[in-house]
Amino acid sequence: MHTVKEILSDPRAVVIFDIDGTLTEYTYGERTLMPKGMDGSNLDQMSTCSGLREMAKTRDIYSEVEALPAIKDYIDRHGTDRIFVCSVEMEGREKEKISMCERVYGIPASHVCFVQDEVFRAEEKTLVIDTIRRKYFPELEPKWFVMVDDSSHLLRKMTAISDYSTALVTVFLSYPWKVSR
Ligand SMILES: [Mg+2]
Repeated sequence: MHTVKEILSDPRAVVIFDIDGTLTEYTYGERTLMPKGMDGSNLDQMSTCSGLREMAKTRDIYSEVEALPAIKDYIDRHGTDRIFVCSVEMEGREKEKISMCERVYGIPASHVCFVQDEVFRAEEKTLVIDTIRRKYFPELEPKWFVMVDDSSHLLRKMTAISDYSTALVTVFLSYPWKVSR
């Protein structure tokens, strides 16, 4: 048995990162999650997600993104051959997100995938990992594929429907990990 930290520390691991809130900090207000008016204070009408969407219409938030040091350090050490990205995108910002991944983390454009359905994103992200596995690593057991996301809801659902490993992005708060190899 391996813990997820042991799997992530192993050269065999194929890691699939989410973008919003995972590769990006998700702090877009001066001192708040969102600027006033887009902060989800009217929770009946506006979720944090739709607030982000509203803001992204007037501002390329992805050109402002800076690397999260622990994640950047992990990706640099692991090498980008086994690093992929999968993000929900429904507003046509694929280009902005791809150039952020390349500029900030050195992840090649061909490793950045998108899904369209926010409701079924766990199912769709699972299908994306299936495709990555079939295309690049058909011999590798599912446990060596790790989905890293900021949504515990999504990760719980993925655990229920697949054998892939999952980790909340907060696992990187304690990186570099002390694991036995
Ligand atoms: Mg996210």
